[in-house]
Amino acid sequence: MAMYAYKDAARSVKILARNAKKEDKGNRYYCPNHECEAHMFIRNIEGVSASYFGAIHSHGHILNCPHGASSGFNPNDYDEGAFKFDNALIALTELGKSQTKKEAPGTHGSGSATLKPPRTIRQIYAMCKAHDCSDTYNGVTIGHMLLDNRSVYMYPKGVFGWRIIEAKCKKPRFYDSDRKEISLVASTVGEEYTFILIFENELLFKEIKNVIFSNKEYLIVAAGQWSSSGIFNVFCTPVTSRKQLAIITHN
Ligand SMILES: [Zn+2]
Repeated sequence: MAMYAYKDAARSVKILARNAKKEDKGNRYYCPNHECEAHMFIRNIEGVSASYFGAIHSHGHILNCPHGASSGFNPNDYDEGAFKFDNALIALTELGKSQTKKEAPGTHGSGSATLKPPRTIRQIYAMCKAHDCSDTYNGVTIGHMLLDNRSVYMYPKGVFGWRIIEAKCKKPRFYDSDRKEISLVASTVGEEYTFILIFENELLFKEIKNVIFSNKEYLIVAAGQWSSSGIFNVFCTPVTSRKQLAIITHN
């Protein structure tokens, strides 16, 4: 599903789900992915919950479309108002906090589940991909959270501070075992930036190196606090937890 779509096949007129009106119900909209001919319609336009665009079964998304159901962001599953981007990313760097932790005693059986903000890297990434990059989520511009092909124009001077980057494995070699570093390049068409993940923990370095090695053709998403490496257009971040990385196998 998507939080935006286009009114025309040329993808020149964008519409945000939040700006859709009742009259738009029944109109066919176009997937943000130009390759994808899914027939999208506004959903939930008359309910109290947030609207979004979804494809109909007979004309669904192409395989691996980032706006297909597998990317799975539904605005009604999360508490947008509680989302704090920097805090969410800091939490991803912390060790020992299980994200599958059981609910605190007392919250069980108390009726409807309390919504949480997006918190895993997959949830935050899916939220960013579902929105137009100039749109906002709890007041933060999507493109300022996620660097991808859509938002790269917002980074003319490089990538600094807490950001999620969408990247590919650097070829021909993506790791340096002596330095415990993994190198990625931006997924953007121009491959403008190189990103170095710096590990202190040897076991974590090996684990992540092996995961990337067996998924070399997929997109890699990394959350970190980026700073200059000293080399032009090369940025680096410490990696202290596997929660900072995800392999995106659905597109
Ligand atoms: Zn699509």
